[in-house]
Amino acid sequence: MSPNKQFILLGPPGSGKGTQAKFLAAKLRVPHISTGEIFRDHISRQTDLGKEVDNILKQGLLVSDDITNKIVADRLNQADAVPGFVLDGYPRNLVQAAFLNESTMNVQALDLELSDDEAVKRISRRWTCSVCGAIYHLDFKPPQNSGICDIDNTPLSQRSDQAENIVRDRLVIYHKQTEPLLAYYKREGRLIVIDGTPPIPQVTENINKVLQI
Ligand code: AMP
Ligand code: ZN
Repeated sequence: MSPNKQFILLGPPGSGKGTQAKFLAAKLRVPHISTGEIFRDHISRQTDLGKEVDNILKQGLLVSDDITNKIVADRLNQADAVPGFVLDGYPRNLVQAAFLNESTMNVQALDLELSDDEAVKRISRRWTCSVCGAIYHLDFKPPQNSGICDIDNTPLSQRSDQAENIVRDRLVIYHKQTEPLLAYYKREGRLIVIDGTPPIPQVTENINKVLQI
């Protein structure tokens, strides 16, 4: 097993980053740290930070580097992150990557590749039931009655950043701001590229094989 357990997951929205980050962290027994989840948690608890970033997340824009770097630094300073961590959704641009580099030089970057069309198809056609949490997909797992949960008849809803136009905006930001990180980590010999197109279990298997874990 690789002695280095510091990972970052790169890849466009919809690439399965969050899911794979969770699996990888569990396998390595290190915390899974998702900046998106941290922000959404603040929003649901209506903290000052939550109120500040609510609209930014709704529009699919990026939270400022100052705020984001600070929450990541605080989180990485907690004891459970000493043996390692899997960062998901951070860094998102070169400023954040440089900041992370100051505190840790050993991260390995895993890039989950996915085409834009596939990303849009995956995210914007996903609907959830706010009552029971069931997840539907208009192509792969449509509800029996259009727009209604099979289990409890609740009208289905989408997270506001999952609408197609917002997903397209998030992809533009990804290409402009986050994609340059691939060259950055590649130059340093710290980039592993994985095809994010296959089904989730297959991608997990490929990651484990490459990392020899
Ligand atoms: P995610 O769950 O990673 O897609 O993140 C959801 C949203 O949280 C993003 O669309 C941004 O608004 C915000 N966010 C998450 N991570 C970052 C980051 N590293 N820098 C700036 N904004 C972020
Ligand atoms: Zn339901």
